[in-house]
Amino acid sequence: MQRITWILAVLIFFGSSIAQAADFISLKEGQRRISIDENISYIKDQTHELTFQELLTTPDQRWQKNERSQVNFGYSDASYWIKFSLHNQDALALDRILEIGYAVLDNIDIYLVRDGLYTDHYILGDKLPFYERLVQNRNFLIPMRLEVNEKVDVYLKLRTTSSVQAPMDLWNPIDFHQVDQSRVIFQGIYFGIALVMILYNLFVYLAVSEKTYLHYVAYISCMPLFLASLNGLSFQYLWPTATWWNDQSIVFFLNGVVVFGTFFSLRFLSLKREAHRWIYRSLHAVAWLAALLMVCSLLFTYQTMIRPTIYVAVTACIALLIAGIYRCIQGDVSARYFTVAWTAMLSGGIVLALNKFTLLPQNVITESATQIGSALEIILLSIALADRLNQEKRKAFNAQIEALEHEREARQAQEETLKIQKEANQMLEQRVNERTSELAELNAQLIELNAKDALTGLKNRGYFDEKFQHYYTTAYRLQKPLSLLIIDIDHFKQFNDNHGHLVGDECLVMVATAIKQVISHPEDITCRYGGEEFVVILPETDQHGAYQVAEKIRQKVAETPFQIAAEQLQVTVSVGTNSLVPVTSENRNQMFDQADEALYKAKNQGRNQVAGYQPKVMLHQV
Ligand code: GH3
Ligand code: MG
Ligand code: MG
Repeated sequence: MQRITWILAVLIFFGSSIAQAADFISLKEGQRRISIDENISYIKDQTHELTFQELLTTPDQRWQKNERSQVNFGYSDASYWIKFSLHNQDALALDRILEIGYAVLDNIDIYLVRDGLYTDHYILGDKLPFYERLVQNRNFLIPMRLEVNEKVDVYLKLRTTSSVQAPMDLWNPIDFHQVDQSRVIFQGIYFGIALVMILYNLFVYLAVSEKTYLHYVAYISCMPLFLASLNGLSFQYLWPTATWWNDQSIVFFLNGVVVFGTFFSLRFLSLKREAHRWIYRSLHAVAWLAALLMVCSLLFTYQTMIRPTIYVAVTACIALLIAGIYRCIQGDVSARYFTVAWTAMLSGGIVLALNKFTLLPQNVITESATQIGSALEIILLSIALADRLNQEKRKAFNAQIEALEHEREARQAQEETLKIQKEANQMLEQRVNERTSELAELNAQLIELNAKDALTGLKNRGYFDEKFQHYYTTAYRLQKPLSLLIIDIDHFKQFNDNHGHLVGDECLVMVATAIKQVISHPEDITCRYGGEEFVVILPETDQHGAYQVAEKIRQKVAETPFQIAAEQLQVTVSVGTNSLVPVTSENRNQMFDQADEALYKAKNQGRNQVAGYQPKVMLHQV
């Protein structure tokens, strides 16, 4: 009998254990955190007509077991009923917190049935103002107490425009608060990093006015706001009563991330319309599409907007990664930072997107991947921007130095040119001076030659005319006497006829020499007037002086023997003189004619003599 009792006890124990594993979650003291997800059953209610009362009488076959490791039904407009049971098998009453770790669920109805009796109904979800929550936490928390041996059936009704996810954990309250504190600190670090970077880059923008910084600031402002909207922090701290906006903000900021991230990247990677046609156009198209979606997010429901938004965001992530790699290959230094940063961000983004489409489980890593990726990206890009600024500063500095060098070279070249020009000018001037003095010399020689009679070496008639004019005017001005002698060889025609022209020429030279010997005063001018006629100008010489000079000439010629072969010839000259103090400056021709008249007189009186001009009326005659 005892044996049978033992066997029954063992059977009941095992039987109940098997039943327990299938029907409820056994709760005991010392359990810190239990994941509920694998222990739930659910009903998909496409019509939203199923009521809680109907549900209680619904046959068990209608309930589907959750085959997946998490409660994640993806995007769906159906209502989901979820059921699980808890059983306190400890000897003490147990306090527990049920955490639904997906902050954007719209409507959650929770019904508790304790030992077969419906006792509690809680309404949660972000369609209610934040302050109406049971526990004010970014996630949905339901605290509950299970008495000894109490069995609680929990029914949840989910209806949401977001992805239908309900990762559920049952926590020991002490452990929950410890873990949640770490999570909050983790979030605090992320948002702290983001805030510092936003402010830092904003100040850099204000300082350098480089637009890339402004795009970057807009981008890294949208990113944390998007993530904060997604994990419920912005609803908790920024807009706790704005339930409509709380849904839309996710779409709004995610599109903001794409818009500003793309415009920032275009500038950061120096992508140009002409040089990188396809990439530039594609990125522009994605950015404008996201901008359109951003505006639409204020007009259309979250449900309508979320899918195109995620497609555009994933496309943008991939396109930007390709652009980064492309620019890396082209050798752009900034693109290296960019690509690493985007790889970090993209990894987080892809994990999030895959999670949304239920391809990845929701856990601490998938939840945090975007934050970690985003923080890494924000820091890396900020470093890259600073590096770029540095590079540009260096480039500008080098360009300035180069410009200065060019300017210096140009100045040097200019100085060199000026020097050469100056030297050339000097040389030219020197040569001009040389040529001028040469010319002056030649001119003097020419004048000399021009003024000279080739045969006798005396000055010629041209010279006489010039000098006679000068002396006549001077004599008039100074009212000094002036004398003029005209000397003519006697019977020279005959001489020529007798002895020939060559001898005649020699005779002329002899007479000229004789005249020169008599005329010693440097002021006196002796010229060959033409043929066998000579003229002598005697400045400041009166009639008496003139007569004496004329007489000396006559005598000198007469005394000078002229030897031709064995024959000695006698040559004589007649001289006409005229002396006066001019009464006008013009009458020099008259003075000449009067001297010629005197010569004519000497000839007539028998030649070889001197005759002075005797005026018929005495007019200043000296
Ligand atoms: P008179 O005593 O009146 O002066 O007689 P004349 O023969 O000297 O005068 P006329 O004026 O008739 O003759 C001048 C001559 O002088 C004419 C020419 O044969 C000669 N004659 C003029 N010029 C030159 C010259 O350059 N060389 C030579 N050999 N004879 C010259
Ligand atoms: Mg004559
Ligand atoms: Mg004569």
